[in-house]
Amino acid sequence: MPSRPQSKGQCAYCRQETTKSGMTKHLSVCPQRRAAIEQADGKKGASETLYHLRAQAAYQSEFWLDLEMRGSAKLADLDRYLRAIWLECCGHLSQFSLGNRRGEEISQDRKAKAVFDTAVQLTHLYDFGTTSETLIKVVGARQGKATTKHPIALMARNLMPEAKCIECDKPAAWLCTECLIEDNVWGTLCDKHAKTHPHDNYGEPIRLVNSPRLGLCGYDGPAQPPY
Ligand SMILES: [Zn+2]
Ligand SMILES: [Zn+2]
Ligand SMILES: [Zn+2]
Ligand SMILES: [Zn+2]
Repeated sequence: MPSRPQSKGQCAYCRQETTKSGMTKHLSVCPQRRAAIEQADGKKGASETLYHLRAQAAYQSEFWLDLEMRGSAKLADLDRYLRAIWLECCGHLSQFSLGNRRGEEISQDRKAKAVFDTAVQLTHLYDFGTTSETLIKVVGARQGKATTKHPIALMARNLMPEAKCIECDKPAAWLCTECLIEDNVWGTLCDKHAKTHPHDNYGEPIRLVNSPRLGLCGYDGPAQPPY
């Protein structure tokens, strides 16, 4: 098996692109993140524990997020965040479990501090039919004030994985749902072939978006963070 090139992502503070494995280091030294932390710490209000979490699609490791979560925020906040940026199609049930997917279920009312002071990994499941599975790992923690008013801040995210057209090998921007559902083929298409591709049992091809749920249960985006 030829090794695939390492997934790259972008720092949300300075926009620098770096590899997935280099991002933790980058975030620890990023001057713009440092400035945001200093500015937040200079404001009024109580300090708390803030957790650096790496969320990653369990079977598509090129989809990943580096998040900073307040210790006082609830797992329900993390669930809402993952739904907004990656998962939400039609309001399916979701759950967190300790360790892997067979681990003990954890209530979404639990606060991050109560969970992440001892747990090193959680699994998040969305939709118990066509399930999306996300691993949540604790990368680190710091004492201080959150850099935004929200429970969770996006620190870095993978760049959209590159895809090639199955008909001509040019860069693809579309996905054929019929290829996926009926032929189990990841049918990515360029602009030109998206127009001429013969399959239409599931409608027009859908635009590729930066989410591991694309095409599952009709998910077609927008794959944008909630705030
Ligand atoms: Zn940066
Ligand atoms: Zn659905
Ligand atoms: Zn093409
Ligand atoms: Zn097709």
